[in-house]
Amino acid sequence: MRQQLQPKKCAACGRTPPEVRRLEVAHISPLSECAITIEENLLLLCKENLGDSEPGCHTLYDQGCCSIVNMRECRERWIAGKPPITRKRMTQLRADYGPRPQQQGHLRKELGNLRTQQKSEPTDSEAWCLLQLQIAELTRRRARKNALGRAWNEIIKVHPESPRTDSLKARYIYEKAYIELLSGSSMMPFPISSKE
Ligand SMILES: [Zn+2]
Repeated sequence: MRQQLQPKKCAACGRTPPEVRRLEVAHISPLSECAITIEENLLLLCKENLGDSEPGCHTLYDQGCCSIVNMRECRERWIAGKPPITRKRMTQLRADYGPRPQQQGHLRKELGNLRTQQKSEPTDSEAWCLLQLQIAELTRRRARKNALGRAWNEIIKVHPESPRTDSLKARYIYEKAYIELLSGSSMMPFPISSKE
C-alpha cells in the first residue's frame, strides 16, 4: 500500500527527505468511517526533522489544524501534481489557535468510555472484540510517545479467531496491518511494554 501511494512527497507541503525526516502514511478520515475505500483515504504526510521548530504536516493534521474536507482537497492536488497549499493553512491555524490539545483530550476521554463499556462484556464476545479494535485505533491516533507500540499491544489482545463477522474480521486485519505498516515506515521498535 505504501509503495502505491504517489507522488513520493508530502501532500501538504511538497517536501521530501532529507528536508523532512520521513514521509508517513496518514488517514484522511478515521478508519471507523471508511473500512472499505482504503487507498482513497490515504496520503503521505511528512514527519519533521529533529530540532525543527514546527511539527511536520502529519502532526499538524493530527492536532486538528486541517479539516477532513480540506485534507481531501489536499490529496486531490497532490495526486494531480498541483503545488501544495495545505501546510501554509495549517501552520497559520496553529499560530492563531495553538496546537489544540483538546482534540487529544477528547481521544483520551473516548478511550476511557470504551474501556468502561468493555468491562461488562465477556472477553470472547463480538462486542468485546469490537471495543478492543476501537481502543487499538484510538491508541494509534493519539499523538503521544510510542503510540504505535501501545496500539500494537492493544491489537494483539484480540485473538485472531475472535472476530467472527466479516466486517469485524476485515476491520481487525486492516487495523493490525495498518499499525504494522506505520511501524515499519517509522522503524519503531515494538512491541513495547504498556503502562496503561
Ligand atoms: Zn509536509
